[in-house]
Amino acid sequence: MARRRILAGGISQESHSFTPVRTGRESFTITAGADALAKARGTNSTLGGIIAAADTVGAEVIVPTLFRAQSGGPVEEGVFEEVLGLMCDAARRGDFDAIALPLHGGMLTPSRHDPEGVLIAALRGIVGPEVPITAAFDLHAHVTPGILGDCDLLAGYLTNPHADQGATGERAGRAALAMLEGHLKPVLAHAHLPMLTLGRDRTDEPPLIGLHARAAAAVASGAVADASIFNAQQFLDVPGLGQVVMAYGNGEAEAARALVQELAEALWAARAETIIQYPGLEETLARATPGRTLILGDQGDRVAAGAPGDSTVILHALLERGNGLPAILPLTDPDAVAACRAAGIGATLTLSVGGRISTMMPPVTLTGEVIAAAEGAAFTYAGPAEAGQRALIGPYAVLRVGPLHLALTAFPYSYLDPGYFRAMGLEPADHAVVVVRSGYHFTLNFAALGECVTVDTPGLSSYRVAEMPFTVARPFYPVDDIAFTPEAKIQPRRTFQG
Ligand SMILES: [Zn+2]
Repeated sequence: MARRRILAGGISQESHSFTPVRTGRESFTITAGADALAKARGTNSTLGGIIAAADTVGAEVIVPTLFRAQSGGPVEEGVFEEVLGLMCDAARRGDFDAIALPLHGGMLTPSRHDPEGVLIAALRGIVGPEVPITAAFDLHAHVTPGILGDCDLLAGYLTNPHADQGATGERAGRAALAMLEGHLKPVLAHAHLPMLTLGRDRTDEPPLIGLHARAAAAVASGAVADASIFNAQQFLDVPGLGQVVMAYGNGEAEAARALVQELAEALWAARAETIIQYPGLEETLARATPGRTLILGDQGDRVAAGAPGDSTVILHALLERGNGLPAILPLTDPDAVAACRAAGIGATLTLSVGGRISTMMPPVTLTGEVIAAAEGAAFTYAGPAEAGQRALIGPYAVLRVGPLHLALTAFPYSYLDPGYFRAMGLEPADHAVVVVRSGYHFTLNFAALGECVTVDTPGLSSYRVAEMPFTVARPFYPVDDIAFTPEAKIQPRRTFQG
């Protein structure tokens, strides 16, 4: 038999509807061809998992292009169209047997609420009904009816904080290969729930741990081929925002339908449990002491959820109540970076920083010494999450203000890994307080350094969603009081299927 070939690639980013920032091409790490394979092989990434599935059976993976960026504002139209064009050109060449896409699923462009659905529909239109198309999505994807209709199998992360990127890619890759061999005929059952999870939605604690255990048992027993529970990114003002529970039977749908019905009912019943209040900033900061490291997740300004990373809420608190403890605070401020780079390392200067897009607290004026400044830096995630993944930091500068190290960057970062700070010459372990722009995911890669606490702060990624300007996503729980009964549906087979 000829060697199987899998087409993989696309664009992966999570967007936020309520930030004026747009994510441009310069925010993406772009790889293609042999370079993409070399960089992803063996890493805990969705493309790494697709490659691992292919390697197991000696199949080849073709990557026309892969654009990856951190969360942020909607992606500029031209960037998405560039990727769409490259992927469609590759699909038209037809020199492959199946498609497996490493995407996020929660992206926006200024004019599209479902660009991943546009990409998948375009590929389906080119390859027709017979070529398997699978995809690996983040657990926070916005899964639309269009995606479910055009994809043969969609695999979502099963962990939050996310640790199974590679395993998710492997599920998508293996499913595409199994379809080619005739071992898998996916039949989808799915349910949509008009609700958001807001804080108690880790998969290693109740209520989600029990639902995932139930789904995993159904997969392990062979009753269903695959199952995912998608907890949407909360800041997408899109039609149909909510939870999607789904499972694939192999050739028959009843076991998948029954599982989805059970899981959807359990998740809807547990909706109040998925909402929590985070500890306050003041009380948490008061626990900081020398000799240990307290890592603070800024809940209100999570770049990991698409916020801009320029909030000064914690900066104000550190300056007023930091007790002289060594601290690192990262801040997005391109003008401050430019000023520091122009002044040069060793210069002392007075700057007004932050608070441009996040306006809950004003900019902070401070005087400090520039101790690092550069055009950019590259580093490798220590992991465990995304271990081995290469990342880039654009223009940056470090300003020392007494015991405080202000890590200024031209672009926003979520600081999911200590490697970000080390790339700028700062050792997190040497500081009593380290601030990151993430709510969950940093806890995996910072766990070895100290205590990780996400603090309740105001901002664009605060879970006070009732205060956000949703226009099309509502009604949903908990903002709206809705009468709703979960119902699992079986996806009709595509009429053009044999
Ligand atoms: Zn996610």
